Amino acid sequence: MVIMKFGGTSVGSAQRIKNLVPLINNDERKIVVLSAMSGTTNLLVEISASLYAKDLVKLKQQITEFELRYKNAIAELFSKKESLENANSLLNDHLNFIKSFTLDLFTVNEEKAILAQGELLSTALLNIYLAEQNISSVLLSALDFMRIDDAEEPDVHFIKKMISKSMESFSEEKLFITQGYICRNSFGEIDNLKRGGSDYTATLIGAATNATEVQIWTDIDGLHNNDPRIVEKTFAVTELSFDEAAELAYFGAKILHPTCVLPAKKENIPVRLLNTMQPTATGTIISNKPAPDRITAIAAKDHLTAIKIKSARMLLAYGFLRAVFEVFERYKTPIDMISTSEVAISLTIDSNKHLDEIINELQQFGLVEVDKNQTIICIVGTFGADKQGYASRIFDSLKNIPIRMISYGGSENNISLLVNSDLKKDALVSLNKGLF
Ligand code: ADP
Ligand code: ASP
Ligand code: MG
Repeated sequence: MVIMKFGGTSVGSAQRIKNLVPLINNDERKIVVLSAMSGTTNLLVEISASLYAKDLVKLKQQITEFELRYKNAIAELFSKKESLENANSLLNDHLNFIKSFTLDLFTVNEEKAILAQGELLSTALLNIYLAEQNISSVLLSALDFMRIDDAEEPDVHFIKKMISKSMESFSEEKLFITQGYICRNSFGEIDNLKRGGSDYTATLIGAATNATEVQIWTDIDGLHNNDPRIVEKTFAVTELSFDEAAELAYFGAKILHPTCVLPAKKENIPVRLLNTMQPTATGTIISNKPAPDRITAIAAKDHLTAIKIKSARMLLAYGFLRAVFEVFERYKTPIDMISTSEVAISLTIDSNKHLDEIINELQQFGLVEVDKNQTIICIVGTFGADKQGYASRIFDSLKNIPIRMISYGGSENNISLLVNSDLKKDALVSLNKGLF
C-alpha cells in the first residue's frame, strides 16, 4: 500500500484535478490524501474572521467569491449531467453549512468546522470525477478515523484501529480517497492538524497502515537546499535522512509540515517528495539511510521571541534552569533554542500567547529582556562531534551579519543561529553563496 498526498496547488483547478488521474489510476493499492484547492483554506480563515468581527458585508462578498470559484471549477471539471448535478448539489450543501453560522455564536469550534470544508469538498469532487471516468474509488471520511487527544497529539492507536475498520469492507478496492488536515478532537468535535497539516495526515496514515511509501506530491521537485522563495539558484536534495528532514521541517522548510516526518521515522516508512507538474523528476527520498558527510540544506523559522534572563542567582546554582523551564511548562509554551552563560540564559519561543504572564513570572529570577521579530536560521547536515571545519565555514559566510544566539552540538544534524528577522534574507543568501 502506498499513500499519495496531493497539496493545494496539485488540486488547485479543474485541470489539475484531471491531471491527477494518470498518477493515481493503476493497479497499486493506495490511499490518496488531498488538501483543499489552493486558496480555499485562506478564504475560509477570512470568512471566519468576518464572522468573528460580525462584518456581514465582507462575509457576503467572501461567500460569493467562494461560490464562484467552485462553480467555475465544477463547470470545467465535469461533462456528464449527472456528475454536474451531484457536484453542484454537494457545493450547495457546503455553502449552506457555511452560511448557517450565525454572528452571535461564533467560537473557535465553529471556526474549525468551517476550516474543514475545503478538504471535504476537494475529496468529494475528485471522487465524483473518478466515477464519471468509470474509475472505481472509495471516499473515506478522515473524521471517522483521524483523532487528536487532550494534548492535541495524534491518537495513533485510535487512528490505526479506525482506519482499518473504515477499509475492511473494501478488500478488493484499490483506490481510497480521504481528506488531509481535518480530524476530530477528544471531545469528538471537528478539529485540524494545523496549517499545512495534510502532510501530517499522510504520514500518520502511512504509519497506521504500515505503507511501503508515503508520497508528498507538490509544486516543486523535492526539498531544496535553501528556501526557493527567498534565495535564487537553489537545488533539490535527492536523499535525506529522517533526522535531517525532521530538523528542516520543524525549522521552517515549508514543503513539509513541522512534525510530519516523525510518524514515518518511527515506523521506518520512506517519504518521497515529488512534483505533480513534473512527475518524472527524481524528487527527494527521505529514509533511514544515514546521510553522507555534508552540509545538506538551510531553513528559517520566523516569528520568534528571544527572552534573556540575567541573574546572579544562576552562578554556581543547581535547580535554576529547572525553575526557569517550569515557567514555560506551566504556560504550555515550547522553547526552540537555548544558550547559557554563567550569569544569564537566552532562549526563544514561537508563541507569544502567554508572553506577559511568562515575563511576569521570570522577573522573580532577575532582569528579563525580550526581543520580538527574531528568526532562527537552521543549517542541517552531518555535524558529529568528530567533524571539523563546518562552523568556521558557516561563520565566515555570515561575517557581515549580527548574530543574537548560536546553538551547536544539540544534535548531530543541526547548527542554529538567531538573527533579527530583517536580516533573514541576507543571512540565507550569504549562506547559500558560502556553503554550496
Ligand atoms: P502544498 O500546497 O503542496 O502542501 P506547500 O506550499 O505547503 O505545498 O509547500 C511547497 C512550497 O514550499 C514550495 O512551492 C516552495 O515555495 C516552499 N518551500 C520552502 N522551503 C522549501 C525548500 N527548502 N524546498 C522546497 N520547497 C520549499
Ligand atoms: N488546507 C490546509 C492548509 O491550507 C492543509 C494543507 O494544505 O496541508 O493549511
Ligand atoms: Mg503544504
